[in-house]
Amino acid sequence: MQRGKARQAGGEARDIAQAVLAWYDREKRELPWRTEANEQPDPYRIWLSEIMLQQTTIKAVLPRYAGFLRRWPDIEALAGAELGEVLAAWAGLGYYARARNLHACARAVAEQHGGRFPASEAGLRQLPGIGDYTAAAIASIAFGLRATPVDGNIERVVARLFAVTTPLPAAKSKIRALAETLTPAARHGDFAQGLMDLGATICTPRRPACGLCPLRPECRGLAEGLAEALPYREEKVARPVRRGAAFVAIRSDGAVLLRERPLRGLLGGMLEAPSSPWGEAEPNGNSLRDHAPLKAKWLKVPGRVEHIFTHFHLELSVYRAEVGRDAVPKRAAMPECCRFVARRDLAGAALPSVMRKILSHAFEAEAKAAKRSSPAVRASTAPPRARRRSA
Ligand code: SF4
Repeated sequence: MQRGKARQAGGEARDIAQAVLAWYDREKRELPWRTEANEQPDPYRIWLSEIMLQQTTIKAVLPRYAGFLRRWPDIEALAGAELGEVLAAWAGLGYYARARNLHACARAVAEQHGGRFPASEAGLRQLPGIGDYTAAAIASIAFGLRATPVDGNIERVVARLFAVTTPLPAAKSKIRALAETLTPAARHGDFAQGLMDLGATICTPRRPACGLCPLRPECRGLAEGLAEALPYREEKVARPVRRGAAFVAIRSDGAVLLRERPLRGLLGGMLEAPSSPWGEAEPNGNSLRDHAPLKAKWLKVPGRVEHIFTHFHLELSVYRAEVGRDAVPKRAAMPECCRFVARRDLAGAALPSVMRKILSHAFEAEAKAAKRSSPAVRASTAPPRARRRSA
């Protein structure tokens, strides 16, 4: 009896895998890191795409992926780059630990593995920035090994297919075990990518297109009327709010004072507008002056800059000061890790999104102040002179 049930489940899993592969052959998305059936996948390209796609949409990744490949076409080229260059090229993609690990991983592969990625899940997991999911994705897609990557898309498809009602994240291990039962005997990479595409285009978080889905006959979530509701999630705790003050010193030639953040920790190695520590209360009075990077006439910019990080919500007041070219006297030391960066170089600098928001908030205030003090505006807002009486 038990054996009969197992055989039935095995047959069902085979049907599901075949349906996914047949659908993938017809409908797969054309993506620059994908290869045709007769081509050998390039582990460097697969790895680069997988790291970039963590927490980031395909739309945002495509231009960056192309830019990275143009600049660093192989692992040796990326390993030879400076970390600052990689961080600057990554700026705006967020989750900057990925960029630091990308660089560290390229160096590890170049120096310890002769420029070749290890061809096993266990070997890949030893490299910086490669966890369980990425190791399984590279192993199956780049090396054709039997491995089961489970990303957010696959998690959703499997939870619905098997009507898993345990909420996430508690359901993760169950979903992974169920996904493993589906992995076919061959075409492991295509199967994984087929499930990813199915989750991204048909079994979407809202309004899944079940009518177009190749898994419709086997889908228990659909049969039980739970398709759109699954996967359930435990309620999230509200993010705490952190506050602080950021200081934008603008030199008379337009250059801006920026500071390099410590390599370890949030936004590590990226550039920032110097700021106070981010805590529960915003600094004021003396403590505010203590955190300013230079002595200057700091003006508070109206409004605030807000940014959402994974674990907290940040609210920053922005202070702006115009400083002369001698803001840092020749003999005095520049504030630690700080340097002035020319305005034209800001676009290519390693500035994360939150810092770009701070700078544009300060620049808007600067532009308004310049407009107020321009002679034409002064003349138009000056009270009209008394008319001379004609003789
Ligand atoms: S039938 Fe609907 S819910 Fe089930 S896997 Fe397909 S799209 Fe998802």
